[in-house]
Amino acid sequence: MLVEERVRLGLERLRLGRMAEVLGNVCESASREDLSYLDFLDQLLQAEQTQRFERNIEVKTRLARLPYHKTMNDFDYSFQPTVDKKQISDLLSLQFLERRENVLLLGPPGVGKSHIAVALALEAITKGYSAYFVTMHHLIDYLSEGSERNEPMATRMRVLIRPKLLVIDEVGYLPLDRQAANWFFELVSRRYEKSSIVLTSNKSYGDWASLFPEVAIASAILDRLLHHSVTINIRGDSYRLKDKRRAGLIQRIDSAPAS
Ligand code: ADP
Ligand code: MG
Repeated sequence: MLVEERVRLGLERLRLGRMAEVLGNVCESASREDLSYLDFLDQLLQAEQTQRFERNIEVKTRLARLPYHKTMNDFDYSFQPTVDKKQISDLLSLQFLERRENVLLLGPPGVGKSHIAVALALEAITKGYSAYFVTMHHLIDYLSEGSERNEPMATRMRVLIRPKLLVIDEVGYLPLDRQAANWFFELVSRRYEKSSIVLTSNKSYGDWASLFPEVAIASAILDRLLHHSVTINIRGDSYRLKDKRRAGLIQRIDSAPAS
């Protein structure tokens, strides 16, 4: 057996597949460019590490279940002046994750709340953190399903507690019953001061009480969510409707005549 073949087989057996793949090319360029032994080994290792890093990001992205993939490069700040670019850049540095702070994005539909949440999750994944995206509606469905099947709640909760970053999207579209409110409280408490939540809501905090069966549970949840947190209040027009609005199909709500 040729040495090269033996080395390739060895690399494959050791699950260094990318090194095995590029071995021929790296050997060739090493002799052409008269590389040192160390430089040669360095090139091989870099190829393996790069591929593993990329795969890791791919897997983490899949596991995060993002509804779409958009970054802040896709965001038009001039359309949404209440979104402060400097504040978003600070968030993209991900220090909030290290400090275990929450980010709360509030505002009417279409202003970019989910977009920003997705962008933060993608940035976290790119930096090697784990993230998970869920809407409030799915979160409650997912936990009810477990409860109906008499699965231990801890098993289902694990998926929601383990990721370094949990996005809970669309809090406030549906009021929660007592059981759902208790689950949500448990989740927020379990992540409190341990790992970050990025939450989006169309309701201001003042309206949160109406989402929960009791004011006490609403304030207990808000208390933990807000203790170490950044709130971004977005006030503006829906990006979804901007083209329609431009074409004059929809009047601006604030300029609509009172009926
Ligand atoms: P919501 O605030 O309801 O969560 P989304 O973040 O889902 O709204 O935004 C609705 C759509 O408009 C998405 O496709 C999003 O990428 C896009 N979008 C929203 N705001 C902007 C913006 N300022 N620049 C570019 N795209 C935007
Ligand atoms: Mg949304």
